Amino acid sequence: MLRTLLLSSAIALALSACDRAATESPMPTTAAAPAEPAQGENPLLVASTLAFQAPVFDRIQDAHYQPAIEEGMRQHLAEVRTIADSAEPPTFANTIEALERSGELLSRAGAVFFAMTSANTNPALQAAEQALAPKLAEHGDAIHLDPALFARVQTLHEQRAGLGLTPEQLFVVERAYDTFVRAGARLDAEKQAELRTLNSEESSLTTAFSNMLLAATKAGGVLVDDVAKLDGLDEATIAAAAEAAKADGKDGQWLLVLQNTTQQPVLASLTNRELREQVMAASLARAQKGDANDTRATIQRLAELRARKAELLGYPNYAAYSIADQMAGTPEVALKLLTDTVPAATARARAELAKIQSVVDAQGGGFQAGAADWDFYAEQVRKAEFDLDAEQIKPYFELDRVLKDGVFFAAGQLYGITAKERTDLPVYHPDVRVFDIFDADGTQLALFYLDPFQRESKQGGAWMGNFVEQNGLTGTIPVIYNVENYTRPAAGQPALLSFDDTTTLFHEFGHALHGIFSKTTYPSVAGTNVPRDFVEFPSQFNEHWALDPKVFANYAKHYRTGEPMPQELVEKIVRARTFNQGYATTEYLSAALLDMAWHTLPAGDAKKDVEAFEKEALAKYRVDLAAVPPRYRTNYFSHIWGGGYAAGYYAYFGAEVLDHDAFQWFRENGGLTRANGQVFRERILSIGHSRDLAQAYREFRGKEPSVEPLLEHRGLK
Ligand SMILES: [Zn+2]
Repeated sequence: MLRTLLLSSAIALALSACDRAATESPMPTTAAAPAEPAQGENPLLVASTLAFQAPVFDRIQDAHYQPAIEEGMRQHLAEVRTIADSAEPPTFANTIEALERSGELLSRAGAVFFAMTSANTNPALQAAEQALAPKLAEHGDAIHLDPALFARVQTLHEQRAGLGLTPEQLFVVERAYDTFVRAGARLDAEKQAELRTLNSEESSLTTAFSNMLLAATKAGGVLVDDVAKLDGLDEATIAAAAEAAKADGKDGQWLLVLQNTTQQPVLASLTNRELREQVMAASLARAQKGDANDTRATIQRLAELRARKAELLGYPNYAAYSIADQMAGTPEVALKLLTDTVPAATARARAELAKIQSVVDAQGGGFQAGAADWDFYAEQVRKAEFDLDAEQIKPYFELDRVLKDGVFFAAGQLYGITAKERTDLPVYHPDVRVFDIFDADGTQLALFYLDPFQRESKQGGAWMGNFVEQNGLTGTIPVIYNVENYTRPAAGQPALLSFDDTTTLFHEFGHALHGIFSKTTYPSVAGTNVPRDFVEFPSQFNEHWALDPKVFANYAKHYRTGEPMPQELVEKIVRARTFNQGYATTEYLSAALLDMAWHTLPAGDAKKDVEAFEKEALAKYRVDLAAVPPRYRTNYFSHIWGGGYAAGYYAYFGAEVLDHDAFQWFRENGGLTRANGQVFRERILSIGHSRDLAQAYREFRGKEPSVEPLLEHRGLK
């Protein structure tokens, strides 16, 4: 997932995150603002003197963020004022490049702050976030709606062909102009005033949504008073549930904590059907209980104000506005991608349900299998059809091995890079590990932080972000982090992953590579600052190497014996790859279509009853299968109400077309080789958004991307 907060055309604080949704901060947002420390003591105010400007986590305190970001906004506005009021006629250097250089403090402090509010939050940080959200929105507007500044950008845009610019500079001018226009620079003063109000309200509401959802998710867990009811769960999961209950003051009981998605991992193994249904019901209803954490009124208002915002900017709905600068271009193109796949996906899901029902019937269950039963019986079907037991696999996927001998190894084979752990840099939590990333010739390319384990202060899901962005103007190299939510192993035990978890590690490092290889001159177009429906391409593409025979053989070894995974087990994993894809595709499509339904509402008709509208939308798009609820229901769809994926959840599918098509190119050219990796690195991974990406892709591939490899991969052909 990618959370983008545009502070100016020049500065994008991009927090790339993946399928990270929902479980956001529970704490009340009314916590007192932290006392302001003396400015001289605030380490965020100056560039870090650690290697590659790594954040000084041993010196940064919660109370430092808000004053540093506020000072950053002040400095940024002063810099922008100087640019806008210059008596010199506008040039690329004194306007566009000057904007790219502005806001250094804000970028630096903001990058660390938003990393912490996602991965290691607390009431003080949440209070700061809530206080800063509207101010940051106003700050963005103050820059984009500055008439003198826009006049200079507009002049340069008109003259761009004759300015002797490099292709990247030309593209940056076009991007800057579009950003100003999309932010409302061409509107009259009255409409701009309304837009400012809407932007400020939107940013407060999205922050409030995130905080309510984290609280609702935390409060929504299911408390169990009898361990017998937990039959089917493994010892580690039961121990974790006991720990969670204890932490919640319910010593001697077990708390099944909710995960961000609708389906809950425990549902695959709980034998007690009543408890399964309780867990599913708790998941589905988590943020619509009529209490302080009910998100529905916030959602209604967000839908309404986004529709109005789009109308002000001349678009029929928010999706049309939002998708206009994406690869898809229009909601129609994005919708078609989704709806074209609905018949095959739902047909497949129905067939899967029939198999599940036959297992229930064969066991004399006497009930119709529903969403709460799906994973439990699907696991049995999987064992029967593929003889594959998830518990059998885990000992071969030990985190450290997967990381070093899998993820880093694959990147070494393809791109020539190496990773070396270092322990001298301060980290924000003892779990966090730091690696130097070197190029083939020994040059250091980046710093890489990994924060692997679940904890209460962390949002759900997994994501990537930058503490420091690659910047060709200042010469900074990327300082990148990956955050995962793996189950913490008991003390002294190795962290064993599922194959899904393993794939996630490859995925997030794919985003990291996109940041690490960035070689642009201008920071606004560096690394992962690309359209949402492109940003998941490098990450999803990197997942493919998890099953590459050479890579797999190098990392999938038994954590105790070091024995490679038996070939027959490997083959089972490969064969089972398309298993349950009917469910997985349908639950994804349902969520993506819900997102489109909410964001294609026209202004004046956007205030809807949340549950009724959701029901209607799912029926309209023919994804209303009772046993296959959306991956995220409206009330806990953090991507679209709390993150930056409004009208953008389709992007995963859009990017998936590219990742499978690109992997097909590797297949056609000999697979995992340095030569192939080099081509991909140069033509895709290093260019950021410094040029038109559809064209860059065509040049890499030699043709338009095709959807066929994706459908084949999902077994939907
Ligand atoms: Zn991702």
